[in-house]
Amino acid sequence: MDIRSRLGLRPVINVSGTMTSLGASSVATPVIEAVAEMLPQFVEIDDLQRKASVAIAAACGSEAGYVTASCSAAITLTIAATMTGDDPGLIERLPHTAGLRNEVVVQTGHLVNYGAPIDQAIRLAGAHAVPVGAATEAHGYQLAAAIDEHTTAALYVVSHHTVGYGLIPLEEFIEVAHGKGVPVIVDAASEYDLKRFIAAGADLALYSAHKFLGGLTAGIVAGKKALVRAAYFQNAGIGRGMKVGKEGIAGAIAALDQWQHRDHVAVRARERSYLSSWEQALNRLPGVRAQIEADPTGNPLERLKISLDPRDARTTAWDLADALAHPHDGSQPVIVRDHEVELHYFFLDPCNLHAGEAPVVLARIVAELQHAREAREPLVTPFHQRDARRTAARRNWPD
Ligand SMILES: *Cc1c(COP(=O)(O)O)cnc(C)c1O
Repeated sequence: MDIRSRLGLRPVINVSGTMTSLGASSVATPVIEAVAEMLPQFVEIDDLQRKASVAIAAACGSEAGYVTASCSAAITLTIAATMTGDDPGLIERLPHTAGLRNEVVVQTGHLVNYGAPIDQAIRLAGAHAVPVGAATEAHGYQLAAAIDEHTTAALYVVSHHTVGYGLIPLEEFIEVAHGKGVPVIVDAASEYDLKRFIAAGADLALYSAHKFLGGLTAGIVAGKKALVRAAYFQNAGIGRGMKVGKEGIAGAIAALDQWQHRDHVAVRARERSYLSSWEQALNRLPGVRAQIEADPTGNPLERLKISLDPRDARTTAWDLADALAHPHDGSQPVIVRDHEVELHYFFLDPCNLHAGEAPVVLARIVAELQHAREAREPLVTPFHQRDARRTAARRNWPD
Protein backbone atom coordinates (compact mmCIF):
# COMPACT_ATOMS: atom_id res chain seq x y z
CA MET A 1 0.00 0.00 0.00
CA ASP A 2 1.20 3.51 -0.90
CA ILE A 3 2.58 5.17 2.26
CA ARG A 4 0.42 8.16 1.45
CA SER A 5 -2.81 6.23 1.92
CA ARG A 6 -1.43 4.61 5.08
CA LEU A 7 -0.84 8.07 6.53
CA GLY A 8 -4.16 9.37 5.23
CA LEU A 9 -2.56 11.74 2.70
CA ARG A 10 -4.02 12.70 -0.67
CA PRO A 11 -2.27 10.94 -3.59
CA VAL A 12 -1.43 14.17 -5.44
CA ILE A 13 -0.07 14.18 -8.98
CA ASN A 14 2.69 16.75 -9.37
CA VAL A 15 2.75 18.65 -12.66
CA SER A 16 4.05 21.71 -10.88
CA GLY A 17 7.80 21.06 -10.88
CA THR A 18 10.22 20.51 -8.02
CA MET A 19 8.31 22.22 -5.23
CA THR A 20 9.34 22.06 -1.58
CA SER A 21 5.65 22.18 -0.63
CA LEU A 22 5.04 18.94 -2.56
CA GLY A 23 8.15 17.08 -1.43
CA ALA A 24 10.65 18.49 -3.99
CA SER A 25 11.41 15.65 -6.39
CA SER A 26 11.11 11.92 -6.71
CA VAL A 27 14.39 10.67 -5.24
CA ALA A 28 16.34 8.58 -7.74
CA THR A 29 16.68 4.87 -6.92
CA PRO A 30 20.52 4.86 -6.69
CA VAL A 31 20.23 7.72 -4.20
CA ILE A 32 17.69 5.84 -2.09
CA GLU A 33 20.02 2.81 -2.06
CA ALA A 34 23.09 4.84 -1.07
CA VAL A 35 21.18 6.59 1.71
CA ALA A 36 19.73 3.33 3.05
CA GLU A 37 23.26 1.89 3.15
CA MET A 38 24.62 4.93 4.96
CA LEU A 39 21.89 5.37 7.56
CA PRO A 40 22.93 2.59 10.03
CA GLN A 41 26.67 3.40 9.81
CA PHE A 42 28.90 5.76 11.75
CA VAL A 43 31.24 7.91 9.71
CA GLU A 44 33.55 10.82 10.34
CA ILE A 45 31.55 13.70 8.93
CA ASP A 46 34.63 15.78 8.03
CA ASP A 47 35.82 12.88 5.89
CA LEU A 48 32.41 12.38 4.31
CA GLN A 49 32.33 16.10 3.48
CA ARG A 50 35.87 15.71 2.03
CA LYS A 51 34.48 13.07 -0.33
CA ALA A 52 31.57 15.36 -1.11
CA SER A 53 34.09 18.11 -1.91
CA VAL A 54 35.81 15.86 -4.45
CA ALA A 55 32.48 14.84 -6.04
CA ILE A 56 31.23 18.43 -6.20
CA ALA A 57 34.55 19.72 -7.57
CA ALA A 58 34.40 17.12 -10.35
CA ALA A 59 30.76 17.80 -11.19
CA CYS A 60 30.99 21.60 -11.04
CA GLY A 61 34.55 22.23 -12.18
CA SER A 62 35.27 24.02 -8.90
CA GLU A 63 38.20 23.85 -6.48
CA ALA A 64 36.07 22.45 -3.66
CA GLY A 65 32.56 22.00 -2.33
CA TYR A 66 30.44 20.85 0.58
CA VAL A 67 26.88 19.92 1.42
CA THR A 68 24.55 21.88 3.66
CA ALA A 69 20.87 21.72 4.57
CA SER A 70 19.44 23.53 1.53
CA CYS A 71 20.28 26.10 -1.08
CA SER A 72 18.69 28.69 1.17
CA ALA A 73 21.10 27.69 3.95
CA ALA A 74 23.93 27.83 1.41
CA ILE A 75 23.09 31.48 0.67
CA THR A 76 23.22 32.40 4.37
CA LEU A 77 26.38 30.40 5.08
CA THR A 78 28.39 31.52 2.05
CA ILE A 79 27.60 35.15 2.82
CA ALA A 80 28.68 34.45 6.41
CA ALA A 81 31.90 32.97 4.98
CA THR A 82 32.71 36.16 3.08
CA MET A 83 32.35 38.13 6.33
CA THR A 84 34.24 35.88 8.78
CA GLY A 85 36.68 33.88 6.71
CA ASP A 86 37.84 30.87 8.75
CA ASP A 87 38.19 32.87 12.00
CA PRO A 88 36.38 30.85 14.72
CA GLY A 89 35.92 33.94 16.89
CA LEU A 90 34.14 35.80 14.13
CA ILE A 91 32.14 32.69 13.23
CA GLU A 92 30.79 32.50 16.79
CA ARG A 93 30.10 36.24 16.80
CA LEU A 94 27.54 36.10 13.93
CA PRO A 95 24.91 37.36 13.41
CA HIS A 96 26.54 40.38 15.09
CA THR A 97 28.58 42.00 12.36
CA ALA A 98 29.74 45.28 13.91
CA GLY A 99 33.09 46.17 12.38
CA LEU A 100 32.77 43.64 9.55
CA ARG A 101 31.86 44.28 5.93
CA ASN A 102 28.20 43.31 5.96
CA GLU A 103 26.53 44.54 2.77
CA VAL A 104 25.54 42.28 -0.11
CA VAL A 105 24.87 43.91 -3.47
CA VAL A 106 22.08 42.25 -5.43
CA GLN A 107 19.98 43.44 -8.35
CA THR A 108 16.50 44.61 -7.35
CA GLY A 109 15.02 42.31 -10.02
CA HIS A 110 16.75 39.39 -8.27
CA LEU A 111 15.17 39.97 -4.85
CA VAL A 112 12.81 37.02 -5.21
CA ASN A 113 10.79 34.84 -2.87
CA TYR A 114 11.40 31.11 -3.47
CA GLY A 115 9.18 30.12 -0.54
CA ALA A 116 10.89 32.66 1.72
CA PRO A 117 12.35 36.07 0.86
CA ILE A 118 15.94 35.83 -0.40
CA ASP A 119 16.90 39.03 1.42
CA GLN A 120 16.01 37.26 4.67
CA ALA A 121 18.54 34.50 3.87
CA ILE A 122 21.08 37.34 3.67
CA ARG A 123 19.89 38.97 6.91
CA LEU A 124 20.09 35.65 8.78
CA ALA A 125 23.88 35.89 8.51
CA GLY A 126 23.84 39.38 9.99
CA ALA A 127 24.36 41.05 6.61
CA HIS A 128 21.82 42.97 4.57
CA ALA A 129 20.99 43.36 0.92
CA VAL A 130 21.83 46.55 -0.96
CA PRO A 131 19.49 46.60 -3.98
CA VAL A 132 21.03 47.64 -7.29
CA GLY A 133 18.97 49.31 -10.03
CA ALA A 134 15.22 49.20 -10.55
CA ALA A 135 13.06 46.08 -10.72
CA THR A 136 13.20 45.88 -14.51
CA GLU A 137 16.38 47.81 -15.31
CA ALA A 138 19.88 47.63 -13.89
CA HIS A 139 23.28 48.64 -15.24
CA GLY A 140 26.89 47.83 -14.51
CA TYR A 141 27.63 51.42 -13.43
CA GLN A 142 24.91 51.11 -10.76
CA LEU A 143 26.52 47.94 -9.45
CA ALA A 144 29.93 49.62 -9.40
CA ALA A 145 28.51 52.61 -7.51
CA ALA A 146 26.79 50.36 -4.93
CA ILE A 147 30.07 48.63 -4.00
CA ASP A 148 32.10 50.32 -1.27
CA GLU A 149 34.17 49.45 1.81
CA HIS A 150 31.10 47.86 3.46
CA THR A 151 30.46 45.38 0.66
CA THR A 152 31.18 41.76 1.52
CA ALA A 153 29.68 39.93 -1.48
CA ALA A 154 27.72 40.26 -4.70
CA LEU A 155 24.80 37.86 -5.10
CA TYR A 156 23.43 36.84 -8.51
CA VAL A 157 20.19 34.84 -8.71
CA VAL A 158 19.28 32.53 -11.58
CA SER A 159 15.58 31.67 -11.49
CA HIS A 160 12.28 31.90 -13.30
CA HIS A 161 11.24 34.07 -10.33
CA THR A 162 13.64 36.90 -11.28
CA VAL A 163 12.80 39.63 -13.78
CA GLY A 164 13.75 38.09 -17.11
CA TYR A 165 14.99 41.17 -18.99
CA GLY A 166 16.74 44.50 -18.53
CA LEU A 167 19.17 43.30 -15.88
CA ILE A 168 22.95 42.99 -15.73
CA PRO A 169 24.12 39.77 -17.43
CA LEU A 170 26.20 37.36 -15.32
CA GLU A 171 29.48 38.00 -17.17
CA GLU A 172 29.28 41.77 -16.69
CA PHE A 173 28.11 41.34 -13.08
CA ILE A 174 31.20 39.23 -12.32
CA GLU A 175 33.52 41.61 -14.15
CA VAL A 176 32.30 44.66 -12.20
CA ALA A 177 32.28 42.88 -8.80
CA HIS A 178 35.74 41.38 -9.34
CA GLY A 179 37.01 44.74 -10.56
CA LYS A 180 36.14 46.02 -7.09
CA GLY A 181 37.57 42.97 -5.31
CA VAL A 182 34.19 41.55 -4.24
CA PRO A 183 33.41 37.79 -4.47
CA VAL A 184 30.39 36.69 -6.52
CA ILE A 185 27.92 34.10 -5.21
CA VAL A 186 25.50 32.62 -7.75
CA ASP A 187 22.22 31.15 -6.49
CA ALA A 188 21.67 28.48 -9.15
CA ALA A 189 19.30 26.38 -7.03
CA SER A 190 17.27 25.04 -9.91
CA GLU A 191 19.79 25.01 -12.75
CA TYR A 192 20.80 21.92 -14.73
CA ASP A 193 24.18 23.27 -15.78
CA LEU A 194 26.56 22.50 -12.93
CA LYS A 195 29.64 23.94 -14.64
CA ARG A 196 28.51 27.16 -16.31
CA PHE A 197 28.64 29.56 -13.34
CA ILE A 198 32.02 28.48 -12.01
CA ALA A 199 33.36 28.52 -15.57
CA ALA A 200 32.05 32.09 -15.95
CA GLY A 201 34.16 33.11 -12.96
CA ALA A 202 31.73 32.93 -10.03
CA ASP A 203 33.53 32.40 -6.72
CA LEU A 204 30.70 30.22 -5.41
CA ALA A 205 27.76 28.50 -7.12
CA LEU A 206 24.90 27.12 -5.02
CA TYR A 207 22.46 24.35 -5.96
CA SER A 208 19.60 22.42 -4.40
CA ALA A 209 20.30 18.69 -4.20
CA HIS A 210 16.57 17.93 -4.06
CA LYS A 211 15.46 19.65 -7.24
CA PHE A 212 16.41 18.31 -10.68
CA LEU A 213 19.31 16.28 -9.21
CA GLY A 214 16.83 14.00 -7.43
CA GLY A 215 18.72 13.90 -4.12
CA LEU A 216 17.56 14.22 -0.54
CA THR A 217 16.80 17.70 0.74
CA ALA A 218 20.20 19.42 0.84
CA GLY A 219 22.19 22.29 -0.60
CA ILE A 220 25.35 22.01 -2.67
CA VAL A 221 28.07 24.67 -2.38
CA ALA A 222 30.76 24.69 -5.09
CA GLY A 223 33.60 27.17 -5.44
CA LYS A 224 36.93 28.54 -4.29
CA LYS A 225 38.53 26.42 -1.61
CA ALA A 226 39.06 29.16 1.00
CA LEU A 227 35.44 30.33 0.74
CA VAL A 228 34.04 26.79 0.80
CA ARG A 229 36.12 26.06 3.90
CA ALA A 230 34.93 29.25 5.61
CA ALA A 231 31.31 28.35 4.75
CA TYR A 232 31.74 24.80 6.09
CA PHE A 233 33.23 26.14 9.34
CA GLN A 234 29.98 28.07 9.94
CA ASN A 235 28.65 24.71 11.22
CA ALA A 236 30.31 25.70 14.51
CA GLY A 237 28.20 28.87 14.46
CA ILE A 238 25.01 29.93 12.71
CA GLY A 239 25.23 26.86 10.47
CA ARG A 240 24.44 24.50 13.33
CA GLY A 241 20.72 25.01 12.87
CA MET A 242 21.12 24.34 9.14
CA LYS A 243 23.16 21.16 9.45
CA VAL A 244 22.84 18.23 7.13
CA GLY A 245 23.23 14.65 8.34
CA LYS A 246 25.22 11.77 6.87
CA GLU A 247 22.16 10.78 4.83
CA GLY A 248 21.94 14.18 3.15
CA ILE A 249 25.66 14.23 2.32
CA ALA A 250 25.67 10.65 1.01
CA GLY A 251 22.47 11.47 -0.88
CA ALA A 252 24.07 14.48 -2.57
CA ILE A 253 27.15 12.48 -3.61
CA ALA A 254 24.91 9.74 -5.06
CA ALA A 255 22.65 12.30 -6.74
CA LEU A 256 25.61 13.94 -8.52
CA ASP A 257 26.80 10.54 -9.63
CA GLN A 258 23.45 9.34 -10.96
CA TRP A 259 22.92 12.71 -12.70
CA GLN A 260 26.07 12.18 -14.71
CA HIS A 261 24.96 8.69 -15.72
CA ARG A 262 21.28 9.45 -16.32
CA ASP A 263 19.99 8.95 -19.86
CA HIS A 264 19.03 12.60 -20.38
CA VAL A 265 18.00 12.03 -24.02
CA ALA A 266 15.53 9.31 -23.05
CA VAL A 267 14.11 11.42 -20.23
CA ARG A 268 13.55 14.35 -22.57
CA ALA A 269 11.94 12.15 -25.21
CA ARG A 270 9.51 10.78 -22.62
CA GLU A 271 8.64 14.26 -21.36
CA ARG A 272 8.21 15.49 -24.94
CA SER A 273 5.73 12.70 -25.66
CA TYR A 274 3.60 13.67 -22.62
CA LEU A 275 3.68 17.32 -23.67
CA SER A 276 2.72 16.61 -27.29
CA SER A 277 -0.19 14.36 -26.39
CA TRP A 278 -1.56 16.92 -23.90
CA GLU A 279 -1.05 19.75 -26.38
CA GLN A 280 -2.96 18.02 -29.17
CA ALA A 281 -5.88 16.97 -27.01
CA LEU A 282 -6.29 20.28 -25.16
CA ASN A 283 -6.14 22.47 -28.27
CA ARG A 284 -9.37 20.85 -29.43
CA LEU A 285 -11.32 22.25 -26.46
CA PRO A 286 -13.28 25.56 -26.53
CA GLY A 287 -11.48 28.51 -24.90
CA VAL A 288 -8.22 26.58 -24.46
CA ARG A 289 -4.87 27.25 -26.11
CA ALA A 290 -2.00 24.92 -25.33
CA GLN A 291 1.57 25.39 -26.46
CA ILE A 292 4.91 23.89 -25.52
CA GLU A 293 7.34 26.42 -24.03
CA ALA A 294 11.04 26.28 -23.29
CA ASP A 295 12.29 26.85 -19.73
CA PRO A 296 12.86 30.59 -19.08
CA THR A 297 16.36 30.18 -17.59
CA GLY A 298 17.59 27.90 -20.36
CA ASN A 299 17.38 24.54 -18.63
CA PRO A 300 17.00 21.79 -21.25
CA LEU A 301 13.33 21.15 -20.48
CA GLU A 302 9.91 22.22 -21.68
CA ARG A 303 6.49 22.76 -20.17
CA LEU A 304 2.98 23.00 -21.58
CA LYS A 305 1.47 26.47 -21.27
CA ILE A 306 -2.32 26.27 -21.03
CA SER A 307 -4.13 29.58 -21.60
CA LEU A 308 -7.84 29.93 -20.95
CA ASP A 309 -10.32 32.37 -22.44
CA PRO A 310 -12.92 32.55 -19.65
CA ARG A 311 -15.77 33.45 -22.04
CA ASP A 312 -15.44 30.25 -24.07
CA ALA A 313 -14.08 27.97 -21.34
CA ARG A 314 -16.65 29.31 -18.80
CA THR A 315 -13.99 29.18 -16.13
CA THR A 316 -10.70 30.92 -15.42
CA ALA A 317 -7.18 29.56 -15.27
CA TRP A 318 -7.11 29.97 -11.46
CA ASP A 319 -10.52 28.39 -10.94
CA LEU A 320 -9.43 25.46 -13.09
CA ALA A 321 -6.12 25.13 -11.19
CA ASP A 322 -8.01 25.12 -7.88
CA ALA A 323 -10.58 22.61 -9.16
CA LEU A 324 -7.76 20.30 -10.28
CA ALA A 325 -6.11 20.54 -6.85
CA HIS A 326 -9.39 20.13 -4.94
CA PRO A 327 -11.67 17.88 -7.02
CA HIS A 328 -15.37 18.12 -6.20
CA ASP A 329 -15.94 14.46 -7.06
CA GLY A 330 -13.20 12.62 -5.16
CA SER A 331 -10.90 12.13 -8.14
CA GLN A 332 -7.13 12.36 -7.90
CA PRO A 333 -5.74 15.84 -7.09
CA VAL A 334 -3.52 17.36 -9.77
CA ILE A 335 -1.22 20.24 -8.77
CA VAL A 336 -0.30 22.50 -11.70
CA ARG A 337 2.35 25.23 -11.99
CA ASP A 338 0.33 28.38 -11.39
CA HIS A 339 2.59 31.17 -10.14
CA GLU A 340 1.55 33.51 -13.00
CA VAL A 341 -2.05 32.37 -13.16
CA GLU A 342 -3.63 35.86 -12.99
CA LEU A 343 -2.33 36.26 -16.55
CA HIS A 344 -4.88 33.55 -17.54
CA TYR A 345 -2.46 30.66 -17.96
CA PHE A 346 -0.74 27.93 -16.03
CA PHE A 347 1.85 25.32 -16.93
CA LEU A 348 2.11 21.57 -16.80
CA ASP A 349 5.63 20.48 -15.86
CA PRO A 350 6.26 16.82 -16.73
CA CYS A 351 9.59 16.46 -14.89
CA ASN A 352 8.17 14.68 -11.84
CA LEU A 353 5.48 12.52 -13.44
CA HIS A 354 5.32 8.86 -12.59
CA ALA A 355 4.45 6.17 -15.11
CA GLY A 356 0.74 6.15 -15.88
CA GLU A 357 0.03 9.64 -14.54
CA ALA A 358 0.12 11.61 -17.82
CA PRO A 359 -3.26 10.29 -19.08
CA VAL A 360 -4.79 10.93 -15.63
CA VAL A 361 -3.68 14.57 -15.79
CA LEU A 362 -5.28 14.99 -19.19
CA ALA A 363 -8.50 13.24 -18.19
CA ARG A 364 -8.81 15.42 -15.08
CA ILE A 365 -8.36 18.66 -17.07
CA VAL A 366 -10.84 17.53 -19.74
CA ALA A 367 -13.37 16.55 -17.06
CA GLU A 368 -13.07 19.82 -15.13
CA LEU A 369 -13.43 21.84 -18.33
CA GLN A 370 -16.49 19.83 -19.31
CA HIS A 371 -17.93 20.36 -15.84
CA ALA A 372 -17.44 24.13 -16.28
CA ARG A 373 -19.08 24.14 -19.73
CA GLU A 374 -22.10 22.27 -18.39
CA ALA A 375 -22.48 24.25 -15.16
CA ARG A 376 -25.53 26.51 -14.96
CA GLU A 377 -23.38 29.54 -14.11
CA PRO A 378 -19.79 30.13 -15.30
CA LEU A 379 -17.26 28.86 -12.72
CA VAL A 380 -15.56 32.23 -12.42
CA THR A 381 -14.37 33.80 -9.17
CA PRO A 382 -12.53 37.14 -8.87
CA PHE A 383 -8.78 36.61 -8.80
CA HIS A 384 -8.29 39.06 -5.93
CA GLN A 385 -10.22 36.71 -3.62
CA ARG A 386 -7.98 33.73 -4.33
CA ASP A 387 -5.12 34.70 -2.07
CA ALA A 388 -7.46 35.37 0.87
CA ARG A 389 -9.19 32.04 0.24
CA ARG A 390 -5.90 30.16 0.32
CA THR A 391 -4.63 32.00 3.40
CA ALA A 392 -7.88 31.25 5.22
CA ALA A 393 -7.67 27.57 4.30
CA ARG A 394 -4.24 27.37 5.97
CA ARG A 395 -4.70 29.63 8.96
CA ASN A 396 -5.81 26.94 11.40
CA TRP A 397 -3.10 24.44 10.58
CA PRO A 398 -2.71 21.70 11.91
CA ASP A 399 -6.45 21.26 12.34
C1 LIG B 1 14.46 26.60 -4.64
C2 LIG B 1 15.28 27.83 -4.66
C3 LIG B 1 15.99 28.24 -3.54
C4 LIG B 1 15.87 27.52 -2.23
O1 LIG B 1 16.43 26.28 -2.36
P1 LIG B 1 16.25 25.21 -1.18
O2 LIG B 1 17.34 24.25 -1.46
O3 LIG B 1 14.90 24.63 -1.33
O4 LIG B 1 16.43 25.96 0.10
C5 LIG B 1 16.80 29.35 -3.62
N1 LIG B 1 16.90 30.04 -4.76
C6 LIG B 1 16.24 29.68 -5.87
C7 LIG B 1 16.43 30.48 -7.11
C8 LIG B 1 15.39 28.57 -5.86
O5 LIG B 1 14.75 28.20 -6.97
